[in-house]
Amino acid sequence: MPSTLLTARSCQHCGKEFDVWTGYANQLYCSIACRKAATRQRRLERDMDAGSSLPMADLPSSARGAIGELTVSIHFQNAGYQVFRNLSPVGPADLVIWKSGSEPVLIDVKSGPYLNSRSPRKDGEQVYLVGVEGGRVFLPEGFPTN
Ligand SMILES: [Zn+2]
Repeated sequence: MPSTLLTARSCQHCGKEFDVWTGYANQLYCSIACRKAATRQRRLERDMDAGSSLPMADLPSSARGAIGELTVSIHFQNAGYQVFRNLSPVGPADLVIWKSGSEPVLIDVKSGPYLNSRSPRKDGEQVYLVGVEGGRVFLPEGFPTN
């Protein structure tokens, strides 16, 4: 089916008018560059709100991921856990936490206030998705705390 012009709209980032076509009715930005710039701006504002002194949005995503893993590691170390970090960037879990007398818990660290109530099983193991944003840690429902 050929695309039909629906309307013209102002870009949420740069304000320029752009055409909205069928199939793209929810388009907010005139270009991919504007969409990316808006995402970056949102992240910056979010980091400012969180009182971060680091301009996280300026860092590559791999660096943000590493900071997230370390933030979650510190959170659990403060809670009395032993924290084991995956040396490989690929695998079912980023961290394993463990306390004497309890089962180890596999954790996949996610950027953002991630509160998915159901964490997936990977390689047959229960992995808990733990969110991190602006220095805060978000534990999923059903997270085994002890
Ligand atoms: Zn634009």
